[in-house]
Amino acid sequence: MLLNELRDYNASLLQTSQFKDYCPNGVQVEGRAELRRIATGVTASQQVLDEAIAWGADAVLVHHGYFWRNEEATVVGIKKRRIAQLLRNDVSLLAYHLPLDAHAELGNNAQLGKLLDLTGQGRFGDQDIAWLGSMAQPLTLQQFSKLTAEKLLRMPQVIGDAGKTIRRVAWCSGGAQGYFEEAIARGADAYITGEISEQCFHLANETGVAFIAAGHHATERYGIQALGRHLAERFGLEHRFFDQDNPV
Ligand SMILES: [Zn+2]
Repeated sequence: MLLNELRDYNASLLQTSQFKDYCPNGVQVEGRAELRRIATGVTASQQVLDEAIAWGADAVLVHHGYFWRNEEATVVGIKKRRIAQLLRNDVSLLAYHLPLDAHAELGNNAQLGKLLDLTGQGRFGDQDIAWLGSMAQPLTLQQFSKLTAEKLLRMPQVIGDAGKTIRRVAWCSGGAQGYFEEAIARGADAYITGEISEQCFHLANETGVAFIAAGHHATERYGIQALGRHLAERFGLEHRFFDQDNPV
């Protein structure tokens, strides 16, 4: 298929124009016009680019691309090396940030809920990005932490009473610790996100609502893979996911 067709299809699928975001969504670096192989990754790091290009990708699709609102606008250092690598190989970079967190089926939060066997019942947070739902069956915080570790291949940092029963769960992938208070206000027994901040400990401690920091990278592995699989199926493309593990 053509790069422009993929760009337009994704824009409509993910409703990219509906979001206020901190980075451009869509084609960030333009490569060859025709696509057969698409690679996906969480972050457009040098390692992900190297592996995707060695595999023969025509385009790389990621959740974390480049050109963030507060970053230096200059193309120097690691940004120069990454962009030069893409341009030299005529490979496109497409990035989908908040629209990919939010999508009702393919999004990071939809996929995270599926992985942890959570049924979504509502949305909250800025641009309705976070989810609220319930577990298939109540578990103790300890059991739920264990499930999270098994599914996300990483030990979460957990603040709360290990024996507490968890029924209602709120979740938002990535660096969404800022929604913890809203999750508490909405009656969650536990809140799962990627990262934790100092004040989350006290909030968890004094409200009795558990906080689970399950990894920014780990909670955001699943949306971009679901998008890649969907595109491969729909357009007969070859797809491969490149995972550079990240402890954060
Ligand atoms: Zn993120």
